[in-house]
Amino acid sequence: MEKQTLISIYATELPENETDDTSCNDIFYEDTETDYRLAIRAAAEQVSGFLKNNKKPFSGIKPAMLLAEFENVNLENPLPDYKSLFEEVNALYIKHATAFHLPQYIAHLNCPVVIPALAAEVIISAINSSQDTYDQSAGGTFIERRLIDWTGQQIGYNNQCDGVFTGGGSQSNMMGLLLARDYYALTWLNHNIKLQGHPANANRFRIFVSEKAHFSNQKNASLMGLGEQAIIRVGTDERFRMDAAQLQQAIVQEIEQGNIPIAIVATAGTTDFGNIDPLTDISRIAKQFNMWVHVDAAYGCGLLLSEKYRHLLNGIEQADSVTVDYHKSFFQPISSSAFLVKNKFHLNIIKHHADYLNPKEQDYDELPAQINKSITQSTRRFDALKLWFTLRLMGKQKLGRYTDKIIDTTEQAACLLDNSHQFELLSHSDLGVLVFRYIPQRTTGIDIDAMNLYIKQTMFFNGEVLVASTKVNGQFFLKFTILNPLTAIQHIQNILTIIKKHGKDYEQRCHTTANS
Ligand SMILES: *Cc1c(COP(=O)(O)O)cnc(C)c1O
Repeated sequence: MEKQTLISIYATELPENETDDTSCNDIFYEDTETDYRLAIRAAAEQVSGFLKNNKKPFSGIKPAMLLAEFENVNLENPLPDYKSLFEEVNALYIKHATAFHLPQYIAHLNCPVVIPALAAEVIISAINSSQDTYDQSAGGTFIERRLIDWTGQQIGYNNQCDGVFTGGGSQSNMMGLLLARDYYALTWLNHNIKLQGHPANANRFRIFVSEKAHFSNQKNASLMGLGEQAIIRVGTDERFRMDAAQLQQAIVQEIEQGNIPIAIVATAGTTDFGNIDPLTDISRIAKQFNMWVHVDAAYGCGLLLSEKYRHLLNGIEQADSVTVDYHKSFFQPISSSAFLVKNKFHLNIIKHHADYLNPKEQDYDELPAQINKSITQSTRRFDALKLWFTLRLMGKQKLGRYTDKIIDTTEQAACLLDNSHQFELLSHSDLGVLVFRYIPQRTTGIDIDAMNLYIKQTMFFNGEVLVASTKVNGQFFLKFTILNPLTAIQHIQNILTIIKKHGKDYEQRCHTTANS
């Protein structure tokens, strides 16, 4: 029977009022190419609308109001067309989405993204390669490998290095700690943790981080079954960098207590201060005690691009492993991160073979498989293509100049804060974070913590400026994170004027209440 007649027979057999759900016209394939283009173009229009309409970094909407918008959504009831869909998603999401590309967004480590990476996203999701085996990615495997090699070169590793793209810095840090632990047990205790689980003395393993290191280290230690107790937090210097002398003391002290130092995590760019731990000193100390060094450069990796400031990372090449977050400092859309090891053989420690995917007997030089390098993901997005587009079209130098611009603007901002008696700045930054607070003219009767919290929240719910905050020695501070090359010192000046205005308002209210 002819195909056409078959279809018409099935069509007539459908019960009345029921649509033909077997038509497959939503599947992305050759025959639906027109629908695909229309949908993508319409989606891009929504993005243009976001740029045009969201002139403030945030709408200021309160969670209860936003949640109320969801009440009428019935997920069992599909919408009739894209038009209704876009209306709905605008109301629920786009209208209130935080706009990271605006200089008035100066809160967390969210960079604005570059256009080549966005073009790559279109290809990544539609072609949908999975970076686990060659038969699911082919060229994708080699693109990822070249970018890992390139990143290794920027770090100063030789061609023995290797690595893998991951979902983020927390995951990359996890790989670092896991390799450090398993390597230690294999080398010094002749114990294979992958196969046998923890040795009896694993509860004595200790990992050293600075007081300002990322919290993912604690989470990872607990996930690995070592417990947060395994993390020893070392004191910092006047710029909140790990103090090498205190590190040495802490290690000796742990050994004296019968504990086993296995690794040091140095932070290259702390989340709160953007400063870099003394990498060379830390590596020297690690060698002395046969410890693994992992450098968490999730934030500071942007310096790899800079001619002017690359020297701040000197010593990173001595680390056994490194975390880089391209989605923090390479202007890449989330997710884009990588884990690198100096010695590729160390990755063998975590390798696991599945007969259906990466059998043991396969020759991996002939038929490469990235899954052999990945611990926490099997099916894995081809995020590497975004960085490929970015590097091939923009080049490293241009990205590096963006980084330079950000650092220079931050230093200018730091000087503004330093020279004003209305602000207290805690530290200058190697990168783009400034922790400071507004100090009222008359401090008596004013809770400075509450005042700065008021300033932050007022700006947030006005949607005019988004800043972050942190606590240092129990006191509340405001925090600028500058990651946008579009941010100029004039923007910072305007933001400081707004902060001062809200501070004065608060001050006035306090004094009026006190006097009445
Ligand atoms: C952001 C950050 C991380 C975590 O990275 P994610 O990509 O958010 O998982 C780790 N370390 C430092 C220093 C960071 O700033």
